[in-house]
Amino acid sequence: MSSVIRPVDWIDSQAQRMLELVEHWANINSASDNLEGLAQMDAVLSDAFSPLGGEMKLIDLPPRQIIDSSGQVVQKPLGRALSVIKRPDASLRVFLGIHMDTVYGLDQPFQTTQRLGASRLRGPGVADAKSGIVVMLIALEALERSEVADFIGWEVLINPDEELGSPGSTPLLTQCAKRNHLGFVFEPTLADGSLAGQRKGSGNFTVVVRGRSAHAGREFHLGCNAITATATSTAPTNTC
Ligand SMILES: [Zn+2]
Repeated sequence: MSSVIRPVDWIDSQAQRMLELVEHWANINSASDNLEGLAQMDAVLSDAFSPLGGEMKLIDLPPRQIIDSSGQVVQKPLGRALSVIKRPDASLRVFLGIHMDTVYGLDQPFQTTQRLGASRLRGPGVADAKSGIVVMLIALEALERSEVADFIGWEVLINPDEELGSPGSTPLLTQCAKRNHLGFVFEPTLADGSLAGQRKGSGNFTVVVRGRSAHAGREFHLGCNAITATATSTAPTNTC
């Protein structure tokens, strides 16, 4: 009788470990602007992915530009992206992408995980997307244990700024897409568990509208209210 364990059976055997990994990682606050928490994620993810044996590096991202409340451009630092590449010369190369950041800031009460029965876990970033990172990791471990591993190259990119619209990591994602044959994104499934094949995109815009101050009593006609102009889409007819 053969003692070889089929990859799917091996994956099933990892269920408890997968649950514990999600729990551990979701208990690390890694909001997009929490650089300390993102650095902690860099460390635990590096530990988790290093046994796979690929070439691993942490990539500094350029700061993102935002507009502050006075209309000035401000530079905000971003976390680092984790890249792991294995067998880049293989004839079939697969890109696997997901993010380590979440939308739950340090100022929010939702900070830790809670087990809801034997197979349910609630916590910040559990579904989006720390469980996705675990699924990716276990899938790669199963691949590396299989006899087809030598024929498949793969590249992982885990970015720290997806919830902001990937302002610093977009060029990296584009490069990954170009040098691999197919890609998987490990975002959550649809509500019924089916695989999401496509998603809408998003765009973030900041509009700066400047008014002109004037004395409300004596020189009202010299002023210009930026809110009024924006709301009506037409400038008042006096001096704006
Ligand atoms: Zn997500």
